[in-house]
Amino acid sequence: SPKRLAQLLSAHNTRPLFDSLEAFLFDCDGVIWKGDKLIHGVPQTLDLLRSKGKKLVFVTNNSTKSRRQYAIKFQSLGLSVTEDEIFSSSFAAAMYLKVNNFPQQNKVYVIGGEGIIEELQLAGYTGLGGPEDGEKRVQLKSNFLFEHDKTVMYHLAYFCWRNPFLFIYFFCSLKLICCSISQVGAVVVGLDPDINYYKLQYGTLCIRENPGCLFIATNRDAVGHMTDLQEWPGAGCMVGAMCGSTEKEPIVVGKPSTFMMEFLLKKFQIDTSKMCMVGDRLDTDILFGHNAGCKTLLVLSGVTTQSTLQDPSNNIQPDYYTGKISDILDLLGQ
Ligand code: PLP
Ligand code: CA
Repeated sequence: SPKRLAQLLSAHNTRPLFDSLEAFLFDCDGVIWKGDKLIHGVPQTLDLLRSKGKKLVFVTNNSTKSRRQYAIKFQSLGLSVTEDEIFSSSFAAAMYLKVNNFPQQNKVYVIGGEGIIEELQLAGYTGLGGPEDGEKRVQLKSNFLFEHDKTVMYHLAYFCWRNPFLFIYFFCSLKLICCSISQVGAVVVGLDPDINYYKLQYGTLCIRENPGCLFIATNRDAVGHMTDLQEWPGAGCMVGAMCGSTEKEPIVVGKPSTFMMEFLLKKFQIDTSKMCMVGDRLDTDILFGHNAGCKTLLVLSGVTTQSTLQDPSNNIQPDYYTGKISDILDLLGQ
């Protein structure tokens, strides 16, 4: 059947759409901000939506921050948004483990940033790696032996030298050290500007050597706005590296996966036909909203241009499109 083309938001169709909605799900980068710069008219738009009683939720694939850190970013941009209105892919990774009853004693190896480590910790999990392994280097001459394990071994060897009774303890510990990779039950991969061969080797060994070790990707965005001036390689780059070495495909918890949607629907209990997903990417945001049966609105203030939207090769069509979210204000005559 011919695909239904996106309608340009107009003075004619905005009011009926607006009145039919109870909630707006906003993607962040490209909709609310671009890098660290607020997009024009956002505070006034959010104020109007709140004053009309609309529920607002913010869903970002950028895993570098925790929800707490995002709340600070919103505040620093002059927007009053609370932690419980924010769903980041770092939070989604921790919640995926939680809802799947991942045992708390199992460790999680992180190729990613502080945001993932913090969310894991808040959910009661121990995250290894992340920024802590940013400076580490592999020694290709020996078997892969981790720097922190080596330090522990030197200490133990010293104590054993002083007290022969500790020999037994030493051998038990040695076994534990050798098992440090086998204690890892999940590897979480997100954007990691300090990715290195050490982290790739650690993560790869966990997934290849431990049967049942989960391989979780926060998101697979090809590029992101680390700054507002240009695009930078996104988490898709790190996830791709791990796919290459493990020959496995990850469980993706960020957009467009349904995980985050199901999770937030359980929390807010809003009928998806009364929700509108607003985003700047077709293959993450619009697909995310579309798959859940939400209304979808593409804004052209981020990565997608009108010509990409209207290119015959594009088969993801939002219900509506407009330049930026503050167009809603003008079209409603506010
Ligand atoms: N991942 C990274 C590293 C980013 O920098 C960005 C945007 O800046 C994204 C993902 C996409 O974030 P969002 O889902 O808010 O558009
Ligand atoms: Ca976006």
